Amino acid sequence: MSALDSALHQLAEAVKQLGLDDGLHDMLATPRRSMQVAVPLRRDDGTLQVLAGYRVQHNLSRGPAKGGVRFHPDTDLDEVRALAMWMTWKCALIGIPYGGAKGGVAVDPRLLSRNELERVTRRYASEIMPIIGPEKDIPAPDVGTDEQTMAWMMDTYSAHKGYTVTGVVTGKPVSVGGSEGRGGATSKGVMFSTFFALREAGVDHRGATVAVQGFGKVGGLAAQYLHDAGCTVVAVSDVKGGVYNPKGLNPAALLKHLRSGAESVVGYPGTDTITNEQLLELDVDVLVPAALEGVIHEENADRVLAKFIIEGANGPTTPDADAILEQRKAVVVPDILANSGGVAVSYFEWVQDLQAYFWSEDEVNDRLRALMESAYDGVSALSAERGVSLRTAAQMIGVGRVADAHRTRGLYP
Ligand code: GLU
Repeated sequence: MSALDSALHQLAEAVKQLGLDDGLHDMLATPRRSMQVAVPLRRDDGTLQVLAGYRVQHNLSRGPAKGGVRFHPDTDLDEVRALAMWMTWKCALIGIPYGGAKGGVAVDPRLLSRNELERVTRRYASEIMPIIGPEKDIPAPDVGTDEQTMAWMMDTYSAHKGYTVTGVVTGKPVSVGGSEGRGGATSKGVMFSTFFALREAGVDHRGATVAVQGFGKVGGLAAQYLHDAGCTVVAVSDVKGGVYNPKGLNPAALLKHLRSGAESVVGYPGTDTITNEQLLELDVDVLVPAALEGVIHEENADRVLAKFIIEGANGPTTPDADAILEQRKAVVVPDILANSGGVAVSYFEWVQDLQAYFWSEDEVNDRLRALMESAYDGVSALSAERGVSLRTAAQMIGVGRVADAHRTRGLYP
């Protein structure tokens, strides 16, 4: 099942639960704008390569579009459409005044030099320039992009405008209008979501065993924060495979190992090597899929033994897998809630940029926790009241708010 199939399936379920009509369902399923651009790249060796770039604005009913930019070889228009739709529900669910968007370039950033990466980023930014802006659509980092990518995008946009426009992207370095706390925000949100879910089930998070798939920007720091809070992180993985130690790993030491030039966590001293598939099937309390879509699917869901699944990635669980996990009473904290810490602090960054007045890291973190706790409580209450999964409850709140904004504004003409 593709990411778009999953997203549309989840939307249909929320629409059914909310009793929305077919016309509104159609509106919510259809992106408002989809842009496909050619991104010609001059390689360092002088040859020319033309990459495909995308920006999809799924919905604008509640405010400017918001969402990341992904650099990944498998990115295509359908994936970006699904990811943009999830951004719409995510922003509505946590109550920030945005619609949803996503962008991407079909490229493997690991195969490009730094100069090539900068050229791809700047050309992509200039191609989508007509539809982005602080009041229109605000990109941010996602898989394969980072704060340097955002600095280049901001600089390209500003160069064309003739003045500095910090609010055009979020997830920038603090030195050029970024927010304190944005770098670790998605991971902090994953940690808070883990705490809320365990607390609700009466389980102490201290000593809880955790496996994290995707030891990247989100999963790496999530593992470290959970470890620092007293959880036992027994396994982590990256694209090359995973490492396992039943007594617990030291994520900070693993991150240091990668920063000092190691290509993978695999082979780290004192660990056993496992595959990404084996990591998902470990008998742990908490599983954090923090890599890509569709990794928990119909074929492996009955072997996923974790009691709590906290979705750091977007769309890691397919609807078929959801049904299997629900049957065995696993608690799945859905992506649009569990990984919303990133866009929450993106919103704080944008507000700070627009006001040109910056907050302390403590203030950012306190506001993040409060915002996520209130979103979690709302989802949990609706799930109990309606007897639906946390995912369906989260989707119902997000979709319901967008439908409400649409109805209130009315249809033009
Ligand atoms: N890419 C992140 C996400 O999927 C963050 C998006 C943003 O900050 O706009 O939620």
